[in-house]
Amino acid sequence: LKKPNVVILGAGYGGLMTAVRLQKFVGVNEANITLVNKNNYHYETTWLHEASAGTLHHDRVRYPIADVIDRSKVQFVQDTVVKVVPQEKRVILQNGELTYDYLVIALGFESETFGIKGLKEYAFSIANVNAARQIREHIEYQFATYHTEEEKRDERLTIVVGGAGFTGIEFLGELANRIPELCREYDVDPKKVRIICVEAAPTALPGFDPELVEYAVSLLERKGVEFKIGTAIKECTPEGIVVAKGDEVEEIKAGTVVWAAGVRGSYVIDESGFEAMRGRVKVDPFLRAPGYDNVFIVGDCSLMINEETNRPYPPTAQIAMQQGELCAKNLAVLIREQGELQPFKPDIKGTVCSLGHDDAIGVVFGKKMWGAKASFMKKMVDNRALYLIGGPSLVMKKGKFKFF
Ligand code: FAD
Ligand code: NAD
Repeated sequence: LKKPNVVILGAGYGGLMTAVRLQKFVGVNEANITLVNKNNYHYETTWLHEASAGTLHHDRVRYPIADVIDRSKVQFVQDTVVKVVPQEKRVILQNGELTYDYLVIALGFESETFGIKGLKEYAFSIANVNAARQIREHIEYQFATYHTEEEKRDERLTIVVGGAGFTGIEFLGELANRIPELCREYDVDPKKVRIICVEAAPTALPGFDPELVEYAVSLLERKGVEFKIGTAIKECTPEGIVVAKGDEVEEIKAGTVVWAAGVRGSYVIDESGFEAMRGRVKVDPFLRAPGYDNVFIVGDCSLMINEETNRPYPPTAQIAMQQGELCAKNLAVLIREQGELQPFKPDIKGTVCSLGHDDAIGVVFGKKMWGAKASFMKKMVDNRALYLIGGPSLVMKKGKFKFF
C-alpha cells in the first residue's frame, strides 16, 4: 500500500503541534511526514515583545526544531514556502518542490499596515526573531548615538508604539522596564526619553475588561508611558509619525516607530489563490479550506466564526495549538481510513497580558486577576506551551522560573 505524503508548512505553534502529535499517533510505516519551515528553529511568538525590548535575549525565545521532532518519522526541510498549487497538490519552495496527499498550512501571521503610507518603509513590527533583534538593536543604537552627535536631538529618544492591543501593551510593559536600564547604560537623562502609545479606538485593549484596562494603563503611565487614545496613525515618515484625532492633525518626531496595530495571515495564502480575508481562510469545522478536502489550515492563517458573538475568533497561540492537536488526530483518521473526523471546538481558557516581567492582567476561567498573581499565571501559560510541544525537558531548558 502506498504511504500518503503529509506535508506541514510552518513550525510555529500550529504546525509544530500538528507534527509532534502526528508523530505520536502514526507509525513509521503509515505515512511520510514532511515539516517545512524557514528556519531550523521554532520561536515563541508570544515572547517576541520581550526580545524586541531587550528584556529577554532572542536566543531564549527559540529552540531547534530537531529537539522536538522524531526524525525517524518526520523529515524536516528548511526552506521558504513560495506558494501552494492546490489543484495539483504541489508546494513550491524557494529551493524546490514537494507533492502531498494531505497538506497542513500553518504559516502564521504577518504585519498588516492597512496601506498606511510609510509604515512598511519606516516602522518596525514585532514579527519574528530577526525583526525583534532589529528593534532591540535600533533602540540601543539611538541611545548610543545620542551623546556622540554634535547637536543633540531629543527625538532620537522618543519611541512610538502604534496600537494598544495586546501586542502593543505587552511591548510597552517591557519597554517601560528596559528604559531605566538603557538610561544607566548610555548615560542618558530619563527625562529626555518619551514612550508614546497611539491607539485609534476610544480605549486601550478594546473589548477587554475595563477595570483591568484601567489597571494596565495607569501602571504604564506611572512608568512614563504617554497614551494618545482615540488617535490614529495616518502616516509614518523618516522623522516620525503623523497622527489625527478628529480634525486635529499632529506630527510626532521619533527615532523609533513600532507598528503593533494589526496582523494578517500569510501572503502565501493570497499567492496560492485561496479565498481569503487578509490572508485568513474561512475553514470548515474540520479546519479544511473550502473546495479542498485534503488541505487543512491551522493557526493565524485560518478564520473561524464564534457562533456566540458572530465574530471571528482572535488569532491566538492558544487556538493555534488546539487546532494543531485536532488536525493531527484527524490526519490519523484519514491515514488509517478508520474512525470519523472531529470538528474543532475551541476551549478558551482565558487571556493573560503581561506588563513587564513583574506584573500582568488577566481573565482566566472567568476570574479576573492582576499584579503578581497574574504575572505568575502568565509564566505558567508560557511554560505550558513549551510543555505541550516538547514535554518536561523543553520546560527545563527554556522555561520561565524567575517569578518576581
Ligand atoms: P506562528 O507561530 O507565527 O508560526 C509560523 C511559522 O511559519 C514560523 O515558524 C515562521 O518562521 C514560519 N513561516 C512563515 N512564513 C513562512 C514561509 N513562507 N516559508 C516557511 N516558513 C514560514 N497568543 C496567545 O494566545 N497568547 C499570548 O500571550 C500571545 N502573545 C503574543 C505576543 C506577541 C508579541 C505577538 C506578536 C503575538 C502574540 N500572540 C499570543 C498571538 C500568537 O503569537 C499567534 O496567534 C500565534 O503565533 C499563531 O501561531 P501560528 O502557528 O499560526 O503561527
Ligand atoms: P490587535 O488587532 O488585537 O490590536 C491592534 C490595535 O491597534 C487595536 O486596538 C486597534 O484599534 C489599533 N489600531 C489599528 N489601526 C490603528 C491606527 N492606524 N492607529 C492607531 N491604532 C490603530 O493586534 P495585536 O495586539 O497585534 O494582536 C494580534 C493577535 O494576537 C490578537 O488576536 C491578540 O489577541 C493576540 N495576542 C494575544 C496576547 C495575549 O494573550 N497576551 C498578546 C499579544 C497578542
